Amino acid sequence: MAVVKYMSLNGKVVPTEDARIHILSPAVKYGTNVFEGIRGYWNADRKELYIFKLTEHLQRLQYSMKVMRFGDTFTVEYLRDCILELIKTNELREDTYIRLFAYVDDFDGEMTATGTVGMAIAATPKGRREKADAGINVAVSSWQRISDNSMPPRIKCVANYNNGRLAWMQAKADGYDNVILLTQRGTVAEGPGACLYIVRDGVPITSTVASDILESITRRTVMQIFAEYANKYTVERDIGRTELYAAEEAFYCGTGHEILPIVSIDRHPLGDAQVGPLTRLLWEKYQGLVRGTLADHPEWRTPVYAESGS
Ligand code: PMP
Repeated sequence: MAVVKYMSLNGKVVPTEDARIHILSPAVKYGTNVFEGIRGYWNADRKELYIFKLTEHLQRLQYSMKVMRFGDTFTVEYLRDCILELIKTNELREDTYIRLFAYVDDFDGEMTATGTVGMAIAATPKGRREKADAGINVAVSSWQRISDNSMPPRIKCVANYNNGRLAWMQAKADGYDNVILLTQRGTVAEGPGACLYIVRDGVPITSTVASDILESITRRTVMQIFAEYANKYTVERDIGRTELYAAEEAFYCGTGHEILPIVSIDRHPLGDAQVGPLTRLLWEKYQGLVRGTLADHPEWRTPVYAESGS
């Protein structure tokens, strides 16, 4: 992570080294901690940083806090103001990743502690992931995705990420770039940090929200882009493992991963093992929409600097 001067802690901008919580907080002891990953895109012509789908992310944070039974929540307006203030203080004028945490910060609190609820934000420069242009090689994991009756995959609880970590590290040790987890029913769930689409016979297909996936904001954006710019309607349904090998295209989608093409699964090449035409079109439109070089859907972009006139 790039080091920036300031972070935000409980509504106040503080020097980065002062953004700390106690080792005995439930957030550390039990992973009682939820978060959001949000991106801001710099538009050089307009000298503006656009935050993509900010309200949707903040509403999902509220939902994560509700599922985890946190005692207090924060309003969307408050969280939004804290994020904008932090970015302006750090004077970020480049592509940026915003990580927003809400956590239980009761000194030596019990497993069932619901407060005090703390809130912290980091906003740091971040560009595109490695190998995004060439596409990546992935494996299907022998680790299963956590199920909604054990841990809630639908929300961004920090503790969930140990599931993806185990799967991803195994895949890396085996020589792959990334990994796909299956549900306990054996159907396709998602990656450790992104949802998955496949394309079969020209039709985009993605697992349903009852497939132990995060309720991804990018997944919905992709659906809309395909419908509006390619006249393609996404099918949401169960996907079987060997169906992955029949796909002519596949990609991860998520705020951090953006649109990340997959060119082989379990060493089966997809199509001609190049980034496919639908994935290319999607990436082109996605980039335009997040950065505001495509004028459509201005409601998806929150300008950081215009609002303050600075
Ligand atoms: N699944 C998981 C497990 C994730 O961590 C993410 C990234 N937030 C996604 C999917 C994609 O979600 P979103 O499009 O909302 O970033």
